[in-house]
Amino acid sequence: MSLQPSESYSFNTPDGVENRLARFRGGSKGPVMVVHGAGVYSGMFLLPTVPESFAAYLMKNGYDVWLIDWRASIALPLRQFTFDEAAANDFPAAIQVIIEKTRADSIQAVVHCAGASAFFMTLAAGLAPQVRCVACSQIALHYRVPPATEIKCALNLDQVLTAMGLDYLSATEDPAHPIFQALFTEFVSLGHFECNSSVCHRIFFMYGELYRHEKLNAETHNRLADQFGKCNMTSFRHLAQIIRRGSAQKYDYGAAENLRRYGSEQPPSYLDPTHLRIPITFVSGELNRTYLPESTKLTFDWLCAANGPGLYKRHVVPGYGHIDNFMGFAANRDSYGYFLEQLESCPT
Ligand SMILES: [Zn+2]
Repeated sequence: MSLQPSESYSFNTPDGVENRLARFRGGSKGPVMVVHGAGVYSGMFLLPTVPESFAAYLMKNGYDVWLIDWRASIALPLRQFTFDEAAANDFPAAIQVIIEKTRADSIQAVVHCAGASAFFMTLAAGLAPQVRCVACSQIALHYRVPPATEIKCALNLDQVLTAMGLDYLSATEDPAHPIFQALFTEFVSLGHFECNSSVCHRIFFMYGELYRHEKLNAETHNRLADQFGKCNMTSFRHLAQIIRRGSAQKYDYGAAENLRRYGSEQPPSYLDPTHLRIPITFVSGELNRTYLPESTKLTFDWLCAANGPGLYKRHVVPGYGHIDNFMGFAANRDSYGYFLEQLESCPT
């Protein structure tokens, strides 16, 4: 049975999007906000199919744990959004709620994948001064992907899908578009021999090799449909733009609209180290093929050069891929400790 929160909150962001927070009180350390990736939800930290979920692990270690469902969550209605919108709205609003409810004056954070990308945009923009340290999983502000992902971005797959009238991709069954989903499933299953799960094949197509199969137990692999869902195309498109540039930038609306919104034909970069002078640990799976481990190394090196090496750490988890750092059956033994180490060493 999965953990039940002691408190749950629903709140609207300044731009009117529902987000949720669930509190799991394991003690007085923290509070720590834990941020999921895109096309998944906070349930990735509450997995009932592993011996110890990440939320249970943090509680055991005495933390006041806050799991957010931000606008990318499959537990919320599907919407089109840019990472800029999430970064400017969701995390600042969530931090405010946590601070109000706990009466703490600052928080810690563990952030993963697209949630980490968006969260680092929030930090870099100076919108989260109450965050006193961060443990970051797999990606921050620099992006390096395997050649297959580069090809998908170069082909502008997102634009092709949009032209077909699809504004999302779904890892699970999709009754609204049965013919497309059948074709999509046929296509993504070509050359995928590791297992015979259609959900798994679609996940790998959408996000690259998202986990090492040998790190998931059978129960978790059998129940992937519980954890994954739809990802909207606007977010995919923003991500493709960022991957082509290699580092985080605002959404590219085209020269004319960029000029109107940003005052420049090119979208502005998020690479400003000024507001990132806090302790940060970066963690990459050694065998991550969604975002290559070099991604966090680039952000780590950039921050060390800009702000000095004293604040930053980086770990590579041997044998792990991407989301198996949280969903692996032995992640509590092999991976969780790197995130905890940052929380434990965080100044109070
Ligand atoms: Zn599989």
